[in-house]
Amino acid sequence: MHKYHTPLDLVRERSPERPVALARPDAVAAAARWFQDNFKGDVFYAVKANPSPWVIETLAANGVTSFDVASAPEIELVSAYAPGSRMAFMHPVKSRKAISAAYFDHGVRTFALDTHEELAKILEATGGADDLALMVRLAVSAHGAAYSLSGKFGAETHEASALLLAARRATQDRMGVSFHVGSQCMRPTAFQAAMAQASRAIVRAGVMVDVVDVGGGFPSVYPGMVPPQMSEYVDSIQRGFADMMVHEDTELWCEPGRALVAEASSILTKVELKKGDALYLNDGSYGSLFDAAHTKWPFPVKLFRNEDGDASEVEGPLKPFRFYGPTCDSLDHMPGPFWLPEDVREGDYVEIGMLGAYGVAMNTRFNGFGDAETVAVDDAPMASMFGLAAASIRLPRESQEDERKVVRLSRPKGAAGKKRRKR
Ligand SMILES: *Cc1c(COP(=O)(O)O)cnc(C)c1O
Repeated sequence: MHKYHTPLDLVRERSPERPVALARPDAVAAAARWFQDNFKGDVFYAVKANPSPWVIETLAANGVTSFDVASAPEIELVSAYAPGSRMAFMHPVKSRKAISAAYFDHGVRTFALDTHEELAKILEATGGADDLALMVRLAVSAHGAAYSLSGKFGAETHEASALLLAARRATQDRMGVSFHVGSQCMRPTAFQAAMAQASRAIVRAGVMVDVVDVGGGFPSVYPGMVPPQMSEYVDSIQRGFADMMVHEDTELWCEPGRALVAEASSILTKVELKKGDALYLNDGSYGSLFDAAHTKWPFPVKLFRNEDGDASEVEGPLKPFRFYGPTCDSLDHMPGPFWLPEDVREGDYVEIGMLGAYGVAMNTRFNGFGDAETVAVDDAPMASMFGLAAASIRLPRESQEDERKVVRLSRPKGAAGKKRRKR
């Protein structure tokens, strides 16, 4: 991967014609270390958030050597870039072939399920293995999350007892419960509440579990969506774990996706046309901007200009803009608002930040676009949950309140964090 000190250096040296994904391995490393130091259990990275080889390698190099995988290609990816690491196949619906390949070719022993049918499938496809860790995925309340992940998966309360019992009987090894509180969870106590729900299910079924997997959902910082400090999430999980009816040796796992990678990538796009308050960019909803289009997240932006061999970051009075992507589909529209200097013009470069999770991972080749190269940069991300950011995030005037919170987040833990909770 080619390396530039900053995105501005890339603009100065290359004036790239196509969108460029900017990778910040240091941000992945910092997030990985934070989870190792603060989460009192095992950390599995949810590969789907960003399956880039540099992410897998950086995580493994920084101590995150367990991976939550959902498909055979993800298993092959992890085997290739983090050989010897531990994988958990956490998709509740798997093909028999994928289960067999995971078990026999890649040493995977942990499998999730939320139905009796899937349990039977797992047992058959592993040849009746007796060394399986079987994880029963429970449906939990997703109140407080930006994205629910319980609509599709998870055993409901009335089904859970029989399934927990069946899974317990099916393995000589470990059995556990897992859930997902929903992605970008803005409420730390959602974890504690979900753990209480899981505990009731265990008690009702009359089984002992060996693993409690609290899933993902740990948030990142976006304009207008500034979560409490990450430490409040692990505190909530600690409290929830202490209250659960589990035995002394029960393991605690988590599966963060977004939180480990969100800060670590942005995309550098070029302005192809300006029409009023609309900027036509060379990347869009079929590229890295799925969430900007479909959930209308107003990601943070910066503007660069390369004029007469003189490249600079453009400052100046800001105005709200919306973006169109390069495809001919009218869905390729990102309403923002994205606050940029009002004299933004064709040929300028817009860096869109905080796209490391579910951004670069969503890229398609629709209409001949989406072919972004990746380069490494070592400047700070636009915002950070882990104290990395220069807090240069640009926000609309009405969310200045949030801007103050971003700044506060990048300070060391302390009084500021406590105060914020009262709001
Ligand atoms: C998507 C997913 C995750 C990661 O979720 P984040 O919100 O990105 O942390 C973890 N576990 C499972 C089973 C998932 O499907």
